Amino acid sequence: MELTEIFGSNVFSDKVMKQLLPKETYKALKETIEKGTSLKPDVADVVANAMKDWAIEKGATHYTHWFQPLTGMTAEKHDSFISPTADGGVVLEFSGKQLIQGEPDASSFPSGGLRATFEARGYTAWDCTSPAFLKTDVGGNVTLTIPTAFYSYYGEALDKKTPLLRSMKAVSKQALRVLKALGNNTSTRVISTVGPEQEYFLVDKRFYLERIDLMLTGRTIFGAPSPKGQELEDQYYGSIKDRVSAYMADLNTELWKMGITSKTQHNEVAPAQYEMAPVFSTTNIATDHNQLVMETMKKVALRHDLVCLLHEKPYAGINGSGKHNNWSLSTDDGINVLEPGHTPGDNVQFLLFVSALLKAVDTHADILRATCATAGNDHRLGANEAPPAIISIFMGEELTEILDKISKGQKISVRGKQFVNVGVDTLPVIPKDNTDRNRTSPFAFTGNKFEFRMVGSAQSIAGPNVALNTIIAEALDDFAGRLEKAKDKNAEATAIIREAYRKHKRVIFNGNNYSEEWVKEAAKRDLPNVGNTVDALKAFVTPTSLKLFEKYEVLSQKELHSRYEIYVEAYGRQINIEGLTAIDMAKKQFIPAGIEYATFLADSIAGLKSIRAQAAVQEDLLKELSTILKSAYNNLGKLEMAMAKAHNITDTVKKSEIYRDKVLTVMTALRTDIDALEMLMPKDMWPVPVYTDLLFKL
Ligand code: ADP
Ligand code: MG
Repeated sequence: MELTEIFGSNVFSDKVMKQLLPKETYKALKETIEKGTSLKPDVADVVANAMKDWAIEKGATHYTHWFQPLTGMTAEKHDSFISPTADGGVVLEFSGKQLIQGEPDASSFPSGGLRATFEARGYTAWDCTSPAFLKTDVGGNVTLTIPTAFYSYYGEALDKKTPLLRSMKAVSKQALRVLKALGNNTSTRVISTVGPEQEYFLVDKRFYLERIDLMLTGRTIFGAPSPKGQELEDQYYGSIKDRVSAYMADLNTELWKMGITSKTQHNEVAPAQYEMAPVFSTTNIATDHNQLVMETMKKVALRHDLVCLLHEKPYAGINGSGKHNNWSLSTDDGINVLEPGHTPGDNVQFLLFVSALLKAVDTHADILRATCATAGNDHRLGANEAPPAIISIFMGEELTEILDKISKGQKISVRGKQFVNVGVDTLPVIPKDNTDRNRTSPFAFTGNKFEFRMVGSAQSIAGPNVALNTIIAEALDDFAGRLEKAKDKNAEATAIIREAYRKHKRVIFNGNNYSEEWVKEAAKRDLPNVGNTVDALKAFVTPTSLKLFEKYEVLSQKELHSRYEIYVEAYGRQINIEGLTAIDMAKKQFIPAGIEYATFLADSIAGLKSIRAQAAVQEDLLKELSTILKSAYNNLGKLEMAMAKAHNITDTVKKSEIYRDKVLTVMTALRTDIDALEMLMPKDMWPVPVYTDLLFKL
């Protein structure tokens, strides 16, 4: 099959709908999709039937309501199309009702107290703004997959999609007000768009299966550095090995079939690290697709005897993985509001939206930080290869200068030309800042979009985009209110831009975010720097945050509290698994291996001494080994105690604090010992594959 035929072949796309649905039905469905009106039952029946026929023709036997619970993963329960008949046969059925609403037994998904046990039901509702598609596997099983939102009996969101859809609505409404106030009469909707770049590691499955830590926690809890790391910088953009490119080819085909625009692929900085980027789409579809990308990456890897690691920091001492969340706003008639303009009018718009971001990101830096807070990402943020936990914006020198001069009412020069006027209404073409690329900023302006780089590789991008959409909605709401009232729109726009810059310029930083100086400078600027998940998550439940999300009808206070609870608990649970894994490996693998080597040395010493030969080296080694073993054994005991302490605490936050302060600290101490042990031991006595195996034997 040609690529153009493969692409989207498993999607019940607009094109397919146009082909298969009666004209009236198609029109009604389109209206629902675009205007968010509700779908009539008779229309739903027709759509469901067409969907079923299409799916069955392509080999589907089952359908599923696919949803995104707060675990950050996706969930699906499969039902076959069969319906028994009186004469003992079956017919294949799929009604509009089955398409629109599902009722999975949801009692095992985290609800953070939103569901009482007597009302454990959750409901799934078709999100027709994200197309249905077919999931296939190597065995030839095909499932009609319907993207859905997941909510409780009382309509509270239990998932990541519901608030995302709400936030898209909120930002659309406020952005449209600003555009209208500026005289735009053509746009009817503003859509938040995202292109998430996904980083990942590959590891040979043989080695993976021998590392309990990788299997159970996604990262190596132990492991001494390989003699070679990433210091030669020979991996980034290097030529892709055949085995990896075979994997990527297979991955692309699977993604393309589901209509995912896998576009860019390359080697990343760390050994065995890679990246894939799609072409951007609506935030909603991009989020669904990113979940599918992660799932498909893992699934396809196994076919190649590889394992795909999505953890933010699988290996200590080398780069971790992130997700670059490229974000912008576009109107339904194709205007990207973050595209620098060619006319003064475009400039006003561009600068206003940039100012809205400036205001929003500075005001709610803590919320943005919280959306990237996970146990995994804690290892990555602030490590030397990733942005620190400080939110700042990279604007580029040129744009910063323009904003600065506007704020001071000074002359502006653009590419050598001087412009006398200081208002936004008279600014000439604002140049696109292509050369000026800052790779260290957590929030970088990249020409016509902003790139939020703090997002972790394993997490859903829903949360960060919910926050982005909502905080920007708030800033735009404020701007719109002022512009709507103003007689002289340009003068008011200039005033708004000036004020936003003056008030929020502290969040602009164009230098090296990885440097020590920035951490100090940021502290001087009073920018928050929260280094761990447990503290960062608190930003969700501050009075400001609760008010913000409630005002824009994105998350109620109850919903936010429940999310906070779930995320804090998830952190504790993750560290608990890591602690247990560390104990398991140290006790059953590493310390016994150390003892075996000690015995070997002792035997050697005894043997040599019996013939009066020298055993000085063995004696030295044994001494060193004993010291390390003793320390490891001590730390193992401490870890068991810290774990017991955490277990005994019922308060979720306090429990997580113990995991953070006690368990993780002792785990690190234990790791130091075990890694020292590894360095001392003969390779064939070491019970698990080492960093060199994991990183360089692909
Ligand atoms: P890089 O940042 O690596 O130079 P690109 O700028 O080409 O790469 O794009 C990175 C990602 O940003 C891609 O997924 C791309 O589709 C996405 N992107 C481009 N324009 C927009 C936009 N207006 N809104 C959201 N994402 C976008
Ligand atoms: Mg990028």
